[in-house]
Amino acid sequence: MKLEEEAKAYMEQKYESLNFKSYQDMAAETAVYKHEHQVIYPALGLAAEAGEVANKVKKILRDGKFDRNAIADEVGDCLWYIAALCRDLNVDMKELAKNNLRKLHDRKSRGVIQGSGDNR
Ligand SMILES: [Mg+2]
Repeated sequence: MKLEEEAKAYMEQKYESLNFKSYQDMAAETAVYKHEHQVIYPALGLAAEAGEVANKVKKILRDGKFDRNAIADEVGDCLWYIAALCRDLNVDMKELAKNNLRKLHDRKSRGVIQGSGDNR
């Protein structure tokens, strides 16, 4: 097996055991932006990628074509920026996910999952 193929196989093996922590760490390996642009760069990137998701969904209306893979690819780009933003904020993605689920389950148990407002 060529060295290049071995490296690819090694990475595929790492991807198979992915979790929030390892994703966040591996995403950080590809985060290339200036230190002074921390938080701002990934926040803007996340907004841009969310816009790309919306644009792909908009094309369902315009073209009548649902491109699941293209939408999923943009969602993945959002995930990368979320990981970068978490890193810059020194927030563990697993803790973020847990806290988010706690909040939503609490709202559901209190019957306020629908509606609006951050502090329900
Ligand atoms: Mg994108």
